[in-house]
Amino acid sequence: METKVYKINDIEKDFWAIDEAAALIRQGQVVAFPTETVYGLGANALDGQAVDRIFKAKGRPNDNPLIVHVSRRGDIEPLVLEAPPETHALMEAFWPGPLTIILKKSGVVPHETTAGLSTVALRMPNHPIALALIERSGVPLAAPSANTSGSLSPTTAQHVLEDLSGAIPMILDGIYPCRVGLESTVLDMSGENPIILRPGGITPGMLKEVLRCVDLDESILKPTDPRHSPRSPGMKYKHYAPRAQVVIFKGSSLEMMADKINDALDEYLGRGLKVGILASDETLSHYSQGEIISMGSREDPAAIATGLYASLREFDKAGVDIILAEWVEEEEEGLAIMNRMIRAAGFHVVDTSR
Ligand code: AMP
Ligand code: MG
Repeated sequence: METKVYKINDIEKDFWAIDEAAALIRQGQVVAFPTETVYGLGANALDGQAVDRIFKAKGRPNDNPLIVHVSRRGDIEPLVLEAPPETHALMEAFWPGPLTIILKKSGVVPHETTAGLSTVALRMPNHPIALALIERSGVPLAAPSANTSGSLSPTTAQHVLEDLSGAIPMILDGIYPCRVGLESTVLDMSGENPIILRPGGITPGMLKEVLRCVDLDESILKPTDPRHSPRSPGMKYKHYAPRAQVVIFKGSSLEMMADKINDALDEYLGRGLKVGILASDETLSHYSQGEIISMGSREDPAAIATGLYASLREFDKAGVDIILAEWVEEEEEGLAIMNRMIRAAGFHVVDTSR
């Protein structure tokens, strides 16, 4: 199949492209589109066969449920059984935006979309193209990230092409890279207490301004315990990974971390491997060999989040075998960064303070 890519410079002038994409959605097809988090691969969330096409195109395990995207808050009503009062305060504060809310689902949402769960994940994206596409389609869109399952989420239309060219009929190209750069915060509101299942652009601190209490799922920085079924099925997979192996170095000081990375670098170079270093602006001067990329300043974790996946893709383009990556403080946006990096590394973390 040929994959058409339509650049959308001006949403009004280029509305014909959104109309064409919406027509595909109504026919039960899939379309990739930009959101403020990452590019999504969307289909009619109320049509099980259309949703199956997403799983096939991505090679996604079908026990991993999808997020349903709406363009108006009121559109969640037919999709849910009940919404606790705090849900409205959350939507008021953070929608449109990178917060996914999990609620008990109604019978309208097919089991393909929720992977058989009795709950549904809902979000209103903060991107004009995404909102226009949902609106024109006239249905909510189930949309995971537009990449092959397990690999890095795309933050440009070019990234989507690299993974899914020939497998999907259309990509809407929003021109600018996605602003947030990491997938949304997933907050479970279907139980007694709100729980963050996946950290993202809406941080625990921001949620605490609206909610009385909010818990963190224990698997955020750890592998899920195989004896229990995880609350968020997506978190059990090795995920968000470049082709190269990733090893994360954690230390009590930046110097100590950089020293250990340099020791490891010597060892891997000695073995004839091509090595990448994911450094930060504060530590760049400690490194002189290998493929060195700064993820940005530690003072600005939101900017690190925006560029993280693009940096990891750069290492793949450079053909490195192994990426030695620095830990960043798991505070606020840093929690989402480390959640993704730890999964990219398959949980391989070297603690240099021991
Ligand atoms: P993605 O679409 O790749 O950004 O992944 C969506 C994330 O939301 C995955 O980690 C899913 O496991 C999670 N998710 C979606 N729906 C639910 C749900 N009903 N309950 C718990 N987690 C969910
Ligand atoms: Mg994904």
